[in-house]
Parts: sequence; structure tokens; C-alpha cells
Amino acid sequence: MAKVSIALRGWRFDEAEVFDETGELRPLDELPEETRKRLVRLKFIADEPCNVCWLLHRDESECNTAEIVYGEPLNEVLLCNEHEADFLYWFREDVGKLAKGQDDFADLFHEWYAAGNRAPDGYGGVEHVDTEPDAVPKPRGAEDTSELDDAVDELDEDALGELGMDYSDIS
Ligand SMILES: [Zn+2]
Repeated sequence: MAKVSIALRGWRFDEAEVFDETGELRPLDELPEETRKRLVRLKFIADEPCNVCWLLHRDESECNTAEIVYGEPLNEVLLCNEHEADFLYWFREDVGKLAKGQDDFADLFHEWYAAGNRAPDGYGGVEHVDTEPDAVPKPRGAEDTSELDDAVDELDEDALGELGMDYSDIS
């Protein structure tokens, strides 16, 4: 089954699970909970700044908008292209290897970065992105974010709960 990213690269969805035959997003309350949570969360984080940019500048106007999401809803790390290598290094080669699935996954990365850790110069964790651009699934663009907005608006407030929390207060 084809996997697709929506709005941000990183989280992947089964195309047939989230879109119907005509390419419309299915009603969210018909989707498995895991999938629904991620889609709802995406609506709120799609335009948020990269976490690393935020840690560096503390001013949204100086931050790149995130293009990539890793982790789980409410415990996710948002990154721009420039800072993806630092995250991948942490996750694949450094202490982040042990953080997978932990409740404080995102905090652990923020702390590691804030302590001055970085990927070594030229770390090749994202090389595949640069050398095979065609192999990287294209995020489905802004059009789908508005479709996602509509789908989320159809859910009742309780279903959204804490998933909509503001991301800019990370520490
Ligand atoms: Zn950044």
C-alpha cells in the first residue's frame, strides 16, 4: 500500500486508509485512533516553527517553519531542513537511540541540543534526501492542510482535547 506524508514530512500514512477512492480525506472519526490523533495533531503543528530554530532564537519571526515531524503526537520534534541532521544524529548515533517511545522523547532531544550537542560537520544522515530527491515522497502541500482543517473542524471539541496545545512554549 502506498504511504504518504501530509503537510509535514516524517509521519507516514497508508494512502488507502486516509483517502477515499476519489482522493478526499476520509472523515476522521472513521479512522483508527492512532491515525486520527496524528492527523489532528498535524493540523496544529503544520505551521509551527522548527524546534531547533526556536531554541536558538526564541522569536518566531527568525525561525524556519517546520518541514519534518518525528516522534508521537504531543511528544513530537519539529524540524526544518537545516536542522534535520542534528536530530537524525541524536536519534541514530547518539543517546537518542534510547529515547524512542519514551514519554519525554521530544524534551530529551531539546535538552541534548540545548546542552550544545550537534551532528558532526557533514553528517550524512540525510544524504538520501539530497541525492535521490525523486525517492522522497512529496508532502501533500497546503491544499491538504485546508482539507485537514475542515476534517478536524467536523470533530467535536472533546475529541480534540489537548492535541491542540500551543507548541511555542517548549522549553
Ligand atoms: Zn530549524
